[in-house]
Amino acid sequence: MSEANLRKALEDLLNMYVANVNSGDWGYWNPEEDPEVIAARKALAEPQEIPEYVDQPLPGCGKCHACLKDHMTGAFPTVLTRMLVCTYCGSKRCPKAADHTNLCTDISMRGHWQ
Ligand SMILES: [Zn+2]
Ligand SMILES: [Zn+2]
Repeated sequence: MSEANLRKALEDLLNMYVANVNSGDWGYWNPEEDPEVIAARKALAEPQEIPEYVDQPLPGCGKCHACLKDHMTGAFPTVLTRMLVCTYCGSKRCPKAADHTNLCTDISMRGHWQ
C-alpha cells in the first residue's frame, strides 16, 4: 500500500469511528478518547517519511490486537490500518478483539447453548 493509500485508510477509519459513535450503534463513548483515534490523528497530523517496505506476514491469528500490536504496515502500526473486531460477534469492544484467547462477551452473555 502506498503512503497516500495508508493515509486514506486512516482517514476512513477515523470517519467510520465517528460515524458509528454518532449513530449510537456502539453505545455512547467519546471516540476522541480512544487510543486508536488519538494515534491515528497524530499519524495524520505529522507528515512522515515512509521507507520502502515489504509487507510482513501477520503474526498469530492476524486478527486481534495482542497478535498484531508489534506489527507494522509501513510506518504505521498495523492495528491502526485495519479495524480489529471480534471474529465471533464482530464487536470492536469485545475482549476477543483485544486478544483472541479471551472469551467473546457475546457468547458468555447468551449462555453456552443458545
Ligand atoms: Zn490473535
Ligand atoms: Zn465477541
